[in-house]
Amino acid sequence: MKKNKDQLMPELRKDPVSGEWIILSPGRSRRPQTLERRAVGPRRPSPKKGCPFEDLPDSGNNIIFEAWPDLSRWQIAVIPNKYPALVHGETHAVDLRQGIYSGKTGVGTHELIVTRDHDRSFADLAPSLAARVLEVIQGRYRVANDGNNAYAVAFLNYGPSVGSSLWHPHYQLMAVPFIPPHIARSLDSAERYFKKHRRCIRCSLIKEEMRHRTRVIEENESAIAFAPYASRRPFEVTVMPKRHSSRFEDEPKKVVADVAALMQSVLRRLRKYAHDPDLNFFIHNAPLGGKGYAYHHWHAEVLPNLSYLGGLEFSTGIYVNVADPDEVAKTLKGKRR
Ligand SMILES: [Zn+2]
Ligand SMILES: [Zn+2]
Repeated sequence: MKKNKDQLMPELRKDPVSGEWIILSPGRSRRPQTLERRAVGPRRPSPKKGCPFEDLPDSGNNIIFEAWPDLSRWQIAVIPNKYPALVHGETHAVDLRQGIYSGKTGVGTHELIVTRDHDRSFADLAPSLAARVLEVIQGRYRVANDGNNAYAVAFLNYGPSVGSSLWHPHYQLMAVPFIPPHIARSLDSAERYFKKHRRCIRCSLIKEEMRHRTRVIEENESAIAFAPYASRRPFEVTVMPKRHSSRFEDEPKKVVADVAALMQSVLRRLRKYAHDPDLNFFIHNAPLGGKGYAYHHWHAEVLPNLSYLGGLEFSTGIYVNVADPDEVAKTLKGKRR
């Protein structure tokens, strides 16, 4: 690892009280005084000209980790993030100490999965290509499982208000050398439930949702989409495989295709019935390592950004949600026009 100050190696810093981590990634704006208040406008198409993803294999100076079906006919390409929040090192993350503070060097994974069509977002991909995107991401989880990374997350930022500065559809995969406390908490809770009831909590939850059906939006053979009982934000949707599985990357093609189909349908429903909101979706997976966490039931979460987050949410983690999930399900099923 270079000690060169100009490299501005990102750092992982842990809050000694809460145990929460932050990534200090000063590479993009070295001088804080140059940061400006960012005006976030509506999501707007940008022209292909000047789009960094239009000539990936041809420009010669792009690193391409993987292309499908091949480099010349690529429909999906995996590339390093040009401005990585974490860098992939030859070495493991090194512990950093400063008095009572501790952190790690910012070694991890930060890559982009790009689809070819400049204007076609996940909802609009051919179903087979949407499934293939998820299969490629499964492969990247396996690659991220390199002995250094402990947890990986794949996500989509759709729209400028939720972190996407580029119009061209792309997904990100980030991996960090620890299990985030937020994830650890939900794993602990799932484990406690499993020990007490000898059942997976999310399998029980699926059963419950299927019995009442008031929050179920859609289902197919292997997956179900529903508005969670304790939704944090309006129009939040969970997409879950029906059969218990702790690891997204281990799912067979049929399940992946069914999850992709439901994700596409949910996104199209949000477009039709909820004003096509900016949103994030992400995969809530078991930690890397390939073993353990059998009580975890992986799933995808869709979080539209239709409300402001304020002091209460930031200070306590309590979200005020103005949309009843029962009504959200009705609306997304087209029964409330
Ligand atoms: Zn483009
Ligand atoms: Zn389960």
